[in-house]
Amino acid sequence: MEYLLRCIDCNSGFESDYIYTCPRCGGLLEVHFFLNPDEIDFSFDGSNLSVWKYRSLLPVTIDPVSLNEGGTPLYNVKHISDISKCDVYVKHEGMNPSGSFKDRGMTVGVTKAIEIGRKAVACASTGNTSASMAMYAAKAGIKAYVLLPAGKVALGKVAQALMHGAKVISIRGNFDEALTLVRQVCEEKGFYLLNSVNPFRLEGQKTIAFEIVDALGVPDAVILPVGNAGNISAIYKGFVELRELGLIDDVPRMIGVQAEGANPIFRAFVKGRREIEPVENPETVATAIRIGQPVNAKKALRAIYESEGMAVEVSDDEIVEAQKLLAAKEGIGVEPASAASVAGLIKLSREGELRGERIVCITTGHLLKDPEEVIKVCGKPVEVDADVEAIKAVL
Ligand SMILES: [Zn+2]
Repeated sequence: MEYLLRCIDCNSGFESDYIYTCPRCGGLLEVHFFLNPDEIDFSFDGSNLSVWKYRSLLPVTIDPVSLNEGGTPLYNVKHISDISKCDVYVKHEGMNPSGSFKDRGMTVGVTKAIEIGRKAVACASTGNTSASMAMYAAKAGIKAYVLLPAGKVALGKVAQALMHGAKVISIRGNFDEALTLVRQVCEEKGFYLLNSVNPFRLEGQKTIAFEIVDALGVPDAVILPVGNAGNISAIYKGFVELRELGLIDDVPRMIGVQAEGANPIFRAFVKGRREIEPVENPETVATAIRIGQPVNAKKALRAIYESEGMAVEVSDDEIVEAQKLLAAKEGIGVEPASAASVAGLIKLSREGELRGERIVCITTGHLLKDPEEVIKVCGKPVEVDADVEAIKAVL
């Protein structure tokens, strides 16, 4: 389908795949399709869900660099439905190939890198982006460079980036600084930048919306964790495109959840603002959303306001409690940031903001991403002698 890149600030359009931000004003770009229902070649029949099922709404022309991403499970969660008095589904994005939702964006982003002839890709990351990018770069046979905030990335994610062959560089600084630096490095070295400032990556992530509609129809609300804020923007865009194509009637309320220690979008929402004030030293157990200056903040706030959604903040204790609830009561193993969505749901239902709605909570990353956090909150296993009586004594 025909598209151009459009600036969300000055509304200028560009027929170029080679820019990340607006050459006129520096604003964020998004892919604007000239939507034509006749060019849609999929139907919402609930079968064969995957990112590339929806290829006619993705802005690439070559064969995709794919590892069979998407098609993640959508669980109707009874225990959490009872607690929240809503009809709750969990879309477990931790079941993607690298264990996080980032794969949806990376399959499109790395495909675009190949399409425009780039030989290397780069990103700053709190972890999941780097793991995913390294994996897709390996598949594509191109180089991957990763900047991580030193000591602030969950072990499983660093392990993935290293084993998939990325050049991993820990910088003595936080994620926001890493992102500023990688943008400079990309400009000077000609690497293709695959952070969520990249408008093509977000196109892959919008397929979460398509899969929800495909499997369930349109829910009343979608609740998800918000870090760099690309995902909430992307999913909202996916729903809006379906509405403009006449494939659905309504767009669900988009509800973003942030950790109390990394909450710039929540703060802006409470004040009714469309721009954030950065949080200087973001801190939370949910490392994947430990971001003080989300790149896509404006897009995220637009998604929240336009969909009549909201932003909510949760404490680290609430996040860990929700993580345990998902794992121990529903059999869904997620990393802390993922559990923020369910923590937000429970908080909003307790406050009377939600009651009886059909809700999809997105869980963004797999439990195995952050094993060290698990040992911290669950404790180490009990160790006993190799003896039946010793075992029985601790049962
Ligand atoms: Zn502009």
